[in-house]
Amino acid sequence: MAISKKIEVNLANSSFIRKMFEEGEQLRKIYGPDKVYDFTLGNPVNEPPEIFKQELKKLAEHPIPGMHRYMSNAGYSETRQAIAEVLAEQSGLAFNEQHVVMTAGAGGALNVVLKTLLDPGEEVIILIPYFVEYKFYIDNFGGVVKEVATNKDFQLDIDAISEAINEKTKAIIINSPNNPTGVIYSAESLDKLEQVLKAKEKQFSREIYVISDEPYAKIVYEDNTVPSIFKHIQNSIVVTSHSKDLALPGERIGYAAASPRINNIDLLMDGLVFCNRILGFVNAPALMQRLVTHLQRESVNIAEYQEKRDLLYNHLTDLGFKMIKPQGAFYLFPKNPIEDDNKFLETAKKYNILIVPGGGFGCPGYFRLSYCIDKKIIVNSLPAFTDLAKELGMKTN
Ligand code: PLP
Repeated sequence: MAISKKIEVNLANSSFIRKMFEEGEQLRKIYGPDKVYDFTLGNPVNEPPEIFKQELKKLAEHPIPGMHRYMSNAGYSETRQAIAEVLAEQSGLAFNEQHVVMTAGAGGALNVVLKTLLDPGEEVIILIPYFVEYKFYIDNFGGVVKEVATNKDFQLDIDAISEAINEKTKAIIINSPNNPTGVIYSAESLDKLEQVLKAKEKQFSREIYVISDEPYAKIVYEDNTVPSIFKHIQNSIVVTSHSKDLALPGERIGYAAASPRINNIDLLMDGLVFCNRILGFVNAPALMQRLVTHLQRESVNIAEYQEKRDLLYNHLTDLGFKMIKPQGAFYLFPKNPIEDDNKFLETAKKYNILIVPGGGFGCPGYFRLSYCIDKKIIVNSLPAFTDLAKELGMKTN
């Protein structure tokens, strides 16, 4: 066998993603791209902000000597300084460039952080529903996944987290604004989490880290805000990227930043920089580092996402679908109106509606719609949802 048994199993377990993508392509060929309502992918269709293109042009016209060379494994000093400045403002803590490592996206940052923290057999808590890649990333370094439920509104279930912590717990990954629910964890719940972590750290005489995965931190609606994790949790590490806020997922640019309040922070940062190197990333893409240095306070147009959320959310709730109104990110996570997730998936497909079943996030009984797609496709999909609701005998509100 050419591949390891472990990869063979993981491949089989994640083949549904590829299958969904292929089905979408097939349907688009038959019906045309405007008549297939593909809500499966988190790959934004919008372009990066104009200022990104201006910066790119500037750099191309006035190249900096040596700009394509290796740099420190942590990344460019000026990029990390620009990030540290914003983190210091948000948290009130003494961040500087030493607390930031540039990475190949949030996915790269998660792998770097987990590689740095984990000894084989140590446990990492993830919260249901979760971003499916967490399981593979934890497994990459011999970690053990511990799944913990959230409450009925998908907020932190502090008691459940407390019960799940034991002498092997090394970290908990949280993701706010959340993929797939759109929920933002409140400042109060983060304070309660910190209380539990402090008590457990004392009980087990070891540190427990909160890895806060925040690629959607700038995609928030109305007057919602994302509390700075650094203000609330001592042992906190943020992993994030510009895949969503600047619409640059293909460019693989992000960072990991660790709280200045962590004991032995210098050693932790040395570990992160070393792991960025030995995982073979070496450093984050040089050109992108230069560009995002000047874009730390920029984002794509959030009003466009809010308009898309409202279009879908209002129509689906009118049809009788039940869901939490997302505070951020670009996903809806409605309850499945019928018992059987597979039957729902197949019935939706009859109307050219493609969704991801909640089982993909460890949360059967729900489904995810990703609305980072063309507004026209969302508008065109609304009558198809009406027909689907009719077939399922749903009672409209
Ligand atoms: N974390 C979450 C919750 C995500 O939804 C994604 C991407 O969809 C990532 C991490 C990875 O993002 P990146 O492109 O920065 O690796």
